[in-house]
Amino acid sequence: MSNQFEYPEDREKRNAAKIKALETLLIQKGIITSNSVDTVLNHFETKKGPFNGAKIVARAWMDAEFKKRLVKDTAKAIAELDDLPEGMTGAESEHVKAVANGDGVHNLIVCTLCSCYPWSVLGLPPYWYKDPTFRSRAAREPRAVLREFGLNVSQEIEIKVWDSSAQIRWFVIPERPEGAENMTEAQLVELVTPESMMGVALPKIA
Ligand code: FE
Repeated sequence: MSNQFEYPEDREKRNAAKIKALETLLIQKGIITSNSVDTVLNHFETKKGPFNGAKIVARAWMDAEFKKRLVKDTAKAIAELDDLPEGMTGAESEHVKAVANGDGVHNLIVCTLCSCYPWSVLGLPPYWYKDPTFRSRAAREPRAVLREFGLNVSQEIEIKVWDSSAQIRWFVIPERPEGAENMTEAQLVELVTPESMMGVALPKIA
């Protein structure tokens, strides 16, 4: 992905070095402790991440009525599921809204203003999601951007771009891929990638 938006090769390495320096300074000044960052990272590794979204999407694939409820009132439908980690609610989960691919529509999420993202279902956004180039181009020429991600959306399919904000954070319910008809819910969970819930890829059977 690093070449797609003309990023310098060492961009991530440089950012990591900057963050390390900042963290060291904050610890030295006594503003945070060495555990603070680990605690936050651990939270996003175990409580809030794309593993939540994958469970929700797999359930929607198994249960058409659940899928309808998920689109209609996303937070309420998510609250029905009992196998999500604690801490899944809160952190603006009430603002999460799902849109479903299908019926001639492909959905793509973006935050044109900054980097609003449905943390509770997808975790932290990848760095390209925050990039001004992606944000402006996704709104202006989504079909071309998706092609660069390797996703050719046919001309007959309308592409809808959903702009996330502090009030609404979108995620995509992709379509269940062909060949997954007889899979169990646990197997389906494995097919749902974060990219497919952002709309820049489709779930595929490996
Ligand atoms: Fe934002």
